[in-house]
Amino acid sequence: MKYSAASDRYKNNMIYRRCGKSGIDLPAISLGLWHNFGGVDSYETGRAVLRRAFDRGITHFDLANNYGPPRGSAEETFGRMMAGDFAPYRDEMIITTKAGWSMWEGPYGSITGSRKHLIASLDQSLARMGLDYVDIFYSHRVDPRTPLEETVRALADIHRQGKALYIGISSYSPALTCEVASLLESERVALLVHQPNYSMFNRWVENGLLATLERLQTGCVAFSPLAQGLLSSKYLNGIPVEARASREKISRNPISPELIDRVRALNDIATRRGQTLAQMAIAWVLRDPRVTSALIGARNVEQLDDSLCALDLLNFSQEDLRDIDRYATDAETDFWESSTSL
Ligand code: NAP
Repeated sequence: MKYSAASDRYKNNMIYRRCGKSGIDLPAISLGLWHNFGGVDSYETGRAVLRRAFDRGITHFDLANNYGPPRGSAEETFGRMMAGDFAPYRDEMIITTKAGWSMWEGPYGSITGSRKHLIASLDQSLARMGLDYVDIFYSHRVDPRTPLEETVRALADIHRQGKALYIGISSYSPALTCEVASLLESERVALLVHQPNYSMFNRWVENGLLATLERLQTGCVAFSPLAQGLLSSKYLNGIPVEARASREKISRNPISPELIDRVRALNDIATRRGQTLAQMAIAWVLRDPRVTSALIGARNVEQLDDSLCALDLLNFSQEDLRDIDRYATDAETDFWESSTSL
């Protein structure tokens, strides 16, 4: 059936937050297409999720060249949905993509931050999505073997060509983030946003990155706030067959009994607050005003609806925060730390 966006999409409870020092507001909850939108997934389910997201005020959709599987297929799926449903709404949307992880065969398609890779990859992404430009283009990861100047100059040129309206980086350390911001500034381009992993089970951004972004006046889009679904009640009694952890390795594997004990304790706190654990996990990353948006995934419309209700209860008492801190400990190393040893 032909899609027409809900007329009350901006009249519900979505909150929009300013992204750093820029003219752009992002929804407090954004939708990522890393999972559930690949060529192997149900097109109809993905389309229902995207339609619902837009109808509920989500204007920010996050992709990358390699999302699928197979790689590239999430952008193809999204392109099909853009052409079929969302073309009339293009100017209401912030669409992002990234390059930096392994994408195509040979030396120019593997993990790299080279000018060759970034420029070719964005051209491929635009073709797959049927777009003239993306709103934000990200360097997806640090590549310690490519001079940072080369990566940043390519990003600035992409910006100047109008193929990306804004520039972002993902999973860069605080020191490298400062270097990127300064190199971009010399090209008269702002660093709009950083996209780090941030959840109750991965708090690395609290060790300097959030302070750095505040100083640089750069926005922060926190990805995987549910720790890939672990911060929900679904794993409390084993691994359901439809859950992500039964299909692939999630970052907290193996899911140990000790980890589940912590999830259970957090779930009890969420119940006491009157929300689901997924909702509390999203609200928790948004408690920090330096976080512009929580970038979630959703396998179906029910999950999306559940997660969006996080916005109904964003406040935390001191007691809640103290109790959460007992179980929400930082035990994870982020990508940038491991990638610098490549
Ligand atoms: P997430 O929100 O932490 O996890 C999403 C998963 O949690 C869903 O696929 C679903 O998994 C489960 N879920 C979602 N809502 C739920 C709910 N209300 N109740 C119970 N379970 C729920 O985020 P993510 O998918 O890992 O990542 C989100 C986005 O961040 C990606 O799509 C991508 O755009 C971005 N990202 C960026 C990077 C980067 O390097 N920059 C890396 C990773 C992700 P089940 O199938 O298990 O139900």
